[in-house]
Amino acid sequence: MASFPLRLLFLSTSVGALGSGLGGGVELTLLNMAQEMQHRGHQIKIVAPSGSVLADFPIAQIPGNLQETAQSQGRKAVITMPPDSVLANMWEYARQAQGDYDLLLNFAYDWLPFYLTPFLDRPIAHLVSMGSLTSAMDLVIEQVIDSHPGTIGVHSHAQADTFAFSDRCVVLGNGLDLSLYQFQPDPENYMAWVGRIAPEKGIEDAIAAAQTVKVPLKIWGAMPDIAYWQTICQTYPEANIAYEGFLSTTELQQAIGLSRGLLMTPKWIEAFGNVAIEALACGVPVIAYQRGGPAEIIEDGKTGWLVEPDSVAGLVEAMDKLDQIDRQTCRQRAEATYSMGAMGDRIEVWLRNVLDAIN
Ligand code: UDP
Repeated sequence: MASFPLRLLFLSTSVGALGSGLGGGVELTLLNMAQEMQHRGHQIKIVAPSGSVLADFPIAQIPGNLQETAQSQGRKAVITMPPDSVLANMWEYARQAQGDYDLLLNFAYDWLPFYLTPFLDRPIAHLVSMGSLTSAMDLVIEQVIDSHPGTIGVHSHAQADTFAFSDRCVVLGNGLDLSLYQFQPDPENYMAWVGRIAPEKGIEDAIAAAQTVKVPLKIWGAMPDIAYWQTICQTYPEANIAYEGFLSTTELQQAIGLSRGLLMTPKWIEAFGNVAIEALACGVPVIAYQRGGPAEIIEDGKTGWLVEPDSVAGLVEAMDKLDQIDRQTCRQRAEATYSMGAMGDRIEVWLRNVLDAIN
């Protein structure tokens, strides 16, 4: 039986510094897991690209060039790394420091950490943050699940199902510090859309639907590609949309909380969708396409509406029915399933099993 507390080394995503928003949901997930594990007495050290900031946690700041995001590369994409790769530098740090830790927790959806798993002395648990995207990633993750069963964690069943080895993934959900999210019983008249403004997130469908309903749509999130955003603005000149930047969690929850509802319109199989549980935590119903993580989080007719994927007409119809959703029920759902405590229990069981398997 693994002896707790643990000394844990968290290895962040290599696509951006923590705090930049480029890492998407991984940034908040890593923060929440670090806070909850520390709260339970475990010792946490974080390894991340230079410039990273994460509350008061000590971070080993690693220089080097960032990794490209995996989302848009196509199934046959080859594995690439830039010269002086921050990913490689982070794992060189891990190789040297591993003796000070009981377990390494990898948050990066990158080939290298999976490939390196059998080469390091310390066990590595991998939290996979996206569904299947490339054959090369599928293969290397499967090799790890074969050689180190139980070490691959995912956020939802829908995400696991994108892989051939779905039944061997550990489904962990996610969690939030609910004390940071205020329940808002009285919304103002606007809809919210929150996320990275990138093609796989499908913001154009939300804008088309808001334009039809003639409701204002407020948008928050990191904008890695301004040209993509400009094209969308030109396509929907009539829409009442406002891009309001990338906010801290404290500001974001206030902004989402005052909305009538959150629109989630991803074109890919969203692994989880942190923004869905952030909205629920504020008492905000979510209208989402019925696929991926959001379809597991939202209860149709209770905490929002699930809509036929890619149907703008479906989004319009759901917006008409938003008042049927009780905002208190949304908050209660977040408290029951997505608290830090509930998430921490799941993570501790997972890490204990990883360690017990090697002892
Ligand atoms: N986010 C934020 N400020 C903003 C907009 C978004 O901190 O103004 C965060 C949000 O809290 C969430 C993340 O961005 O954790 C988006 O994660 P999600 O899981 O929804 O999607 P991903 O980007 O990982 O595909």
